[in-house]
Amino acid sequence: MEREPQDFGRVLSSMCTEPHPDAREAARRFLASNPGDPTTYPAVAELEREVVERLGEMTGLSDPRGYVASGGTEANLQAVRAARNLADSPDPNVVAPESAHFSFRKAADVLDVELRLAATGDDRRADPAAVRRLADAETALVVGVAGTTEYGRVDPVADLAGVAREVGALMHVDAAWGGFVLPFTDRAWNFEDAPVDIMTIDPHKMGRAPVPAGGFLARDERVLDALAVDTPYLESTSQASLTGTRSGAGVAGAHAALAALWPDGYRENYERGQANAEWLADALASRGYEVVDPVLPLVAADVPRETVDALREEGWRVSPTGSGELRVVCMPHVTREMLESFVADLDAV
Ligand SMILES: *Cc1c(COP(=O)(O)O)cnc(C)c1O
Repeated sequence: MEREPQDFGRVLSSMCTEPHPDAREAARRFLASNPGDPTTYPAVAELEREVVERLGEMTGLSDPRGYVASGGTEANLQAVRAARNLADSPDPNVVAPESAHFSFRKAADVLDVELRLAATGDDRRADPAAVRRLADAETALVVGVAGTTEYGRVDPVADLAGVAREVGALMHVDAAWGGFVLPFTDRAWNFEDAPVDIMTIDPHKMGRAPVPAGGFLARDERVLDALAVDTPYLESTSQASLTGTRSGAGVAGAHAALAALWPDGYRENYERGQANAEWLADALASRGYEVVDPVLPLVAADVPRETVDALREEGWRVSPTGSGELRVVCMPHVTREMLESFVADLDAV
């Protein structure tokens, strides 16, 4: 029996979505190209340069360095790795808000770097004073999140960059999910808004590129140099990515999605997603649930666990936050009709 991939009709908590049709087609065409060896595969390497250029444009960086990673996990790990390699200290640490993605825990473990997690404020954003208290001369990297995974919060990036400067650390912004919606808001989050050194921004989340397409960006060539190793058996002589052979489908898919959607298509995605999030937040609040204000297209509400389980029984793909709230991510495939049908089921269970 041939298995069918699951459709997105009831997927409400995922940060992945239906790729753009052009991205699907491009991914298929470049399936066998390896951007990990750009001298042998120059066509896909050229697409990758253009993706990095475009991501720079989206994030306020005129001469971006970087590459298309396997995802936000790799990009965050590489940020920690670059900072560690550039640090003077033999015992460097990373300071991040407790709202940071769990990939930083993997990075700290793999790289044997201490991860210090600072309490967030009442607004669920990083608290620069708390981050400052944990930072010291050994701090190699300060992390801010632009669009947190659980609540869609945007950390005070400029203040965190100030802390990074003060202790001589690099400043990293994790915009893995938020990077494709934030350009259409008035939030301060990018390279232009603050002295940010490194950024994670994933085309395979809000960017409608096929998996795997993450983004690693740096302001300074030094960051890429700190990651590069010699590659004796390849035609090209050095490699900064973590993975070796990489997905040409991811690179070409990201390129095609950006060509089709930046900026107007992404603006439309953002506006529709944000309107849907606000509609759902109101619908939940009017039913007596406590709702976390959706600053980006992501809704969290304290719907009881049994109710969420009953909705899962109905086929809704919903997952809770760490503290058990219902979490709905208004990705491009999430329509108003889906949300109406979800709320009708919520009333019924
Ligand atoms: C999803 C996410 C990641 C991890 O990205 P993957 O592509 O799943 O590896 C990192 N940071 C944030 C803020 C995320 O939302």
